[in-house]
Amino acid sequence: MILSSGAQSIINRDPEIKKMVDEISKEKIEQDVRKLVSFHTRHNMSLQNDPSQGIGAAWNWIKSEFEKNIEASDGRLEVKFEEYSVGGKGQRIPHQVKLKNVIATLKGTNPDDDRIIVISAHLDSRATLDNDSTGYAPGANDDGSGVAAILELVRIMSTRKFSSTIVFMAVSGEEHGLYGAKFMATKAKQENLNIIAMINNDMIGNSGSSETLINDNTRVRVFSEGVPAFETEQMTAMRKFTSGENDSKAREFARYIKETGERYVEQINVTLVFRNDRFGRGGDHTPFCQEGFTAVRICEYNENYDRTHKIPAVVNGIQEGDLPEYVDYEYVRKNAGINLATIANLALAPYEPVNCGIITGRLTNKTTLRWESPLKGVKPTGYYILMRETIQPSWEKKIFVQGNEATVPYSKDNYFFGIQSVDALGHESISVFPGQARRQDAPTN
Ligand SMILES: [Zn+2]
Repeated sequence: MILSSGAQSIINRDPEIKKMVDEISKEKIEQDVRKLVSFHTRHNMSLQNDPSQGIGAAWNWIKSEFEKNIEASDGRLEVKFEEYSVGGKGQRIPHQVKLKNVIATLKGTNPDDDRIIVISAHLDSRATLDNDSTGYAPGANDDGSGVAAILELVRIMSTRKFSSTIVFMAVSGEEHGLYGAKFMATKAKQENLNIIAMINNDMIGNSGSSETLINDNTRVRVFSEGVPAFETEQMTAMRKFTSGENDSKAREFARYIKETGERYVEQINVTLVFRNDRFGRGGDHTPFCQEGFTAVRICEYNENYDRTHKIPAVVNGIQEGDLPEYVDYEYVRKNAGINLATIANLALAPYEPVNCGIITGRLTNKTTLRWESPLKGVKPTGYYILMRETIQPSWEKKIFVQGNEATVPYSKDNYFFGIQSVDALGHESISVFPGQARRQDAPTN
């Protein structure tokens, strides 16, 4: 955590999560990025049947790397391909092609827990031309860095037990239209899967900017949507009623990543960006948002446009191309740590409280919040009431309470509130933004 104010903060860490974060190896990450680069190109129209070149060699290798962890997981880790067809006349992929995503599922140990947490990166790469399927497209940072982080997380987390199920994805098709992620999001919706959170890691290893020449590996961005891409009429009405446009589920999750990531990883400032993605651009979390899931993107703070989507060459004395020597592996390690801490904390946490509301029965300068205990999973030891001034981006106060109602001497007009479940070891659920508790529920005293 970067301390910028005079305020003290107490950090309680779960020693098991800390240990896992400390096991992340930047040497292993570098090895894996270099291996991914060795396939020459991972273009979506590149070779699928060559043992050492092209996208097929890449997905086969990732699958075999995932599979190495099955034994250590006592069989809880399941690894498979998910295959889908894309392309056709007039499309960016002009002929039909079958692509594969590589999916590793670490089954939760609590049979009552149907929650799923998804972490994703894309395995495909591209260089200057959209349709160049044979030129060198190393994709070391985009998105070798994300895939290498996921390989590390599978390696470390498969040896541990979590209540919830964790799905690790290396998807294809991103560079030509987010196809692999779209396929997974649509399928998840059709199967009615209880995905409570999805993190897309796309470009998490470049720490220096082009043009502005900033070098900084202590900041990383988390992009989250404000007004959700998917909203029912009821959700829209409640958002307007509560002025909740800065408290979408994705945004609460982004705040959760900031708090949890900075709790476990040193020298990193998780910077919340209040937009779904970079200006006019998208990523693999977007199809999940569109299907109504809670999904965000983790991305480096500074991008280098001499390297992204460029065929490696020296141009005007500048080495262009997304080469492995330009990835900051210490930075990838930290960003992988943020992912690990977030997923582990969430996969061990109680379910969120339900029917969370602010009681509006009478005019008062205090705020009374009411909620119900989750019906599934471990029983929470208590709840945190979170609060912040309406102009603040992140939560400012966190008050531990027990029971199913709390009154705090702060006006609901001047603050936003959130409610989290928490267990005895301090694992919190994502915070829930309360709606309005019905008048007839108001206490009569
Ligand atoms: Zn990318």
